[in-house]
Amino acid sequence: MSTLQEEINKRRTFAIISHPDAGKTTLTEKFLLYGGAINLAGSVKGKKTAKHAVSDWMEIEKERGISVTSSVLQFHYNDYCINILDTPGHQDFSEDTYRTLMAADSAVMVIDASKGVEAQTIKLFKVCLLRHIPIFTFINKMDREAKDPFELLDDIESVLGIDTCPVNWPIGSGKNFKGVYERDLGAITTFVAEGAGQREIETHLLQMDDPDTEKKIGSHYMAQLRDEIELLDGAGQELDMDLVRSGKLSPVFFGSALTNFGVETFLRHFLKMTLPPTPRVADTGIIDPVEEPFSAFVFKIQANMNKAHRDRIAFMRICSGKYEAGMEVNHIQGGKKIRLAQSTQMMAQERTIVDEAYAGDIIGVFDPGIFSIGDTLCAGNKKFQYEGIPTFAPEHFARVRQVDTMKRKQFIKGISQIAQEGAIQIFQEFNTGMEEIIVGVVGVLQFDVLMYRLQNEYNVEARLEQLPYEYIRWIENEDIDVAKIQGTSDMKRIKDLKDRPLLLFINSWSVGMVEERNPGLVLSEFGKN
Ligand code: GDP
Repeated sequence: MSTLQEEINKRRTFAIISHPDAGKTTLTEKFLLYGGAINLAGSVKGKKTAKHAVSDWMEIEKERGISVTSSVLQFHYNDYCINILDTPGHQDFSEDTYRTLMAADSAVMVIDASKGVEAQTIKLFKVCLLRHIPIFTFINKMDREAKDPFELLDDIESVLGIDTCPVNWPIGSGKNFKGVYERDLGAITTFVAEGAGQREIETHLLQMDDPDTEKKIGSHYMAQLRDEIELLDGAGQELDMDLVRSGKLSPVFFGSALTNFGVETFLRHFLKMTLPPTPRVADTGIIDPVEEPFSAFVFKIQANMNKAHRDRIAFMRICSGKYEAGMEVNHIQGGKKIRLAQSTQMMAQERTIVDEAYAGDIIGVFDPGIFSIGDTLCAGNKKFQYEGIPTFAPEHFARVRQVDTMKRKQFIKGISQIAQEGAIQIFQEFNTGMEEIIVGVVGVLQFDVLMYRLQNEYNVEARLEQLPYEYIRWIENEDIDVAKIQGTSDMKRIKDLKDRPLLLFINSWSVGMVEERNPGLVLSEFGKN
């Protein structure tokens, strides 16, 4: 096998999706712990991370005039090279969070066992579905009182519409959490909460027919477990890897990230069940990660918040071949050859300059303002383009006006550039055009960023008036007379900068109502670029 093929085969690139507080940070940290990337879990991550990241960011920004936020963590586990993509939640939730999923080959969905499927998980899950990537479920916090495991699986199946197949099965929860039954081994791993999760834990495997097992677990729990195993074996889905790989069946694991319980089991199964970077679709056909030389696409652009430096960082996912510092590539959308000089990568907690990277890896490249989200870069004389990245539905809308009408040009320039980076989406009134600009954002914080940047980078004072709309739908039908759509009282017609019509709604039920009233009208939650 060639080195290139070996390197690519080692790679696993995935995102962790969850609702805030389900334990995404804790689980990520435990993966790093098992990968040997950090020694004592809890020493750098957790709530302290925010501070850590901020100081890092400012230091590097000062040194090189670039802004940095963690985007991907790379670490090694056994013979694997693992890239975890960060999907920012909390107040940082934005369209970038969705776009990051475009760069992942699979997703790990963390669910709080006491809560089940929550709002943000649903949103992120929909994007995973769009791409048919494998989704692995980690039901976390079993050391706390949890919902009934069957209820949790039902919740995932009914709310998300994906089948589930438990790989292990919990015995009790909270104070009575005894451990998990490993279905593939037919044995029990007992729960030990020692060391407060700071070190890798030793696990003990108990055989089902060993009389000691009954004593250790308790006859009540053993009887219940036997019943449940029978139910699972009888009625449950089999672990069909074709279904897993096409994103139709999610393998489910129960554990407790805080105490490390179930983390390594998860990692081992996950790595076995997932594939190295798979071929991706371009306009010329399928691009093989090993056969083709370097190619990548831009999925995120990070603007510099320092107005002295307008430059940005473009994050790209390598889809084939190898990146070497200084290589010349074709920037397809720009129609130019460019040199990729300094690119950075996050190794565990540290950002480093990389000289080489392979398909599956994410690199951050200095961007003098030439890249847009979705752009393709190819090595040598290759000229193909990866499928564009969809536009995701904003949930907050506002009308934005410049205060000084003399500054119209700067205002339009600023707002258009910020939209090009993908931080905001801009729309116009359906009839009046550019007189009024309507801005849509996924996370409400983006409004603040917009106002700040207009003022500081473009010297334009603007006013923002929030609008009550929360739902946007793209119209899939070509040649439709938008004026003739039978609307609801809360529906508003707008258009994007390419004059494509869209609909805004205040209430979610109005979306269904409009579909009902206009047979043949096809509305979509995702826009094409
Ligand atoms: P995130 O917002 O999804 O990244 O969640 P965090 O990893 O920051 O976790 C949120 C809170 O839940 C923190 O206080 C964690 O210590 C706690 N937590 C995470 N995993 C577990 C777990 O397995 N058991 C318990 N009891 N608490 C946990």
